[in-house]
Amino acid sequence: MKCIRCGHEAYQSVTTEAIEMDGGLLVIRNIPCYKCEICDEVQFTGDVVKQIEKVIADAKKHINEITVVNFLNVA
Ligand SMILES: [Zn+2]
Repeated sequence: MKCIRCGHEAYQSVTTEAIEMDGGLLVIRNIPCYKCEICDEVQFTGDVVKQIEKVIADAKKHINEITVVNFLNVA
């Protein structure tokens, strides 16, 4: 996969996303992604984006001040 920002090769990695939500902060750890070796741009595949949306939808039902989700446990 190529970086959308600079066109360099992106390598497979994992990342952590913090998402501000009404009522709290959702932190998702161990999200599989592609990271650019030049500019650190992070890209997700379509499947991962869908999974993240699902995690966010679930979290909305029972958000605490800070909710930490391990992506590997929900994917
Ligand atoms: Zn790049």
